[in-house]
Amino acid sequence: MALEFFVDKNAAKVEGLFQLYKHSFFLLPAPKNNRTFVPSFKRPILTVEQAFFFDMDGTLFNSMPNHARAWEIVAARYGLRFPQLTCYRQEGRTGMDILHQLFREQDASEQTNCLNALTHEQREQLLWQIYEEKSRLFHEMGEPEPIAGVAELLLYLQQRGDTQLWIVTGSAQQSLFDRLAIAFSGIFARERMITALDIEHGKPAPDPYLAAWKRSGLNKEQCFVVENAPLGVRSAKAAGLCCYAVNTGPLPDDDLLREGADQVFSTMNDLLHFLKIKIL
Ligand code: MG
Repeated sequence: MALEFFVDKNAAKVEGLFQLYKHSFFLLPAPKNNRTFVPSFKRPILTVEQAFFFDMDGTLFNSMPNHARAWEIVAARYGLRFPQLTCYRQEGRTGMDILHQLFREQDASEQTNCLNALTHEQREQLLWQIYEEKSRLFHEMGEPEPIAGVAELLLYLQQRGDTQLWIVTGSAQQSLFDRLAIAFSGIFARERMITALDIEHGKPAPDPYLAAWKRSGLNKEQCFVVENAPLGVRSAKAAGLCCYAVNTGPLPDDDLLREGADQVFSTMNDLLHFLKIKIL
């Protein structure tokens, strides 16, 4: 069928097919008999395995409002300022990274002096204590709900059959991993999770996404990140991966675009619609 027909009738799908063809060009063997490869419009043409790396907080679960409130409250107990909007800007860092940075940046007189007087081990112990206090408060705030539309997106990707689904998170909270098993039963295997416990340098360093990519066994062109936070986008792009951002929080889209997001969506449904056009 003439390509022009599709250009006129459905430019978006043709754009998606061109993208696919571009990917397929590198991943599929050269066509035999010198024939030009023409994608079929009757059946999916994507024959290569892919991987989607999902961030967790703010991407799978609407957990960020509680995280931001818990951080603000507990930080204040230790003389530190950590407004909720700042928390959204720091999202993606591990809890210990956040605490190290807070104490380093803020001259919280008494607390800093107190911290400086401690040995390295004592200091780390205190920071873990604060982190656990924050985790406890977060837990007491109740179970976060899944982000609207994410279950449909995961189901769609899972049903394709040739798509690896991973979680790449700076979180190390057991409660959320338990919640994963309930909210997204049968979707994520434990061996396809990169958490704060698996890597030395968390987001925005590229390490978490690089670790997922290496373990996937795929080429980078076959891997896609789904993120909601600017520092998560920075991590994904530093790892050299395509990153789709879904802006589920209060920050402007520009914060995500500035970090290099390949596309920013307002909802998971918008991303699902885009992927259906892009990968059929
Ligand atoms: Mg997030």
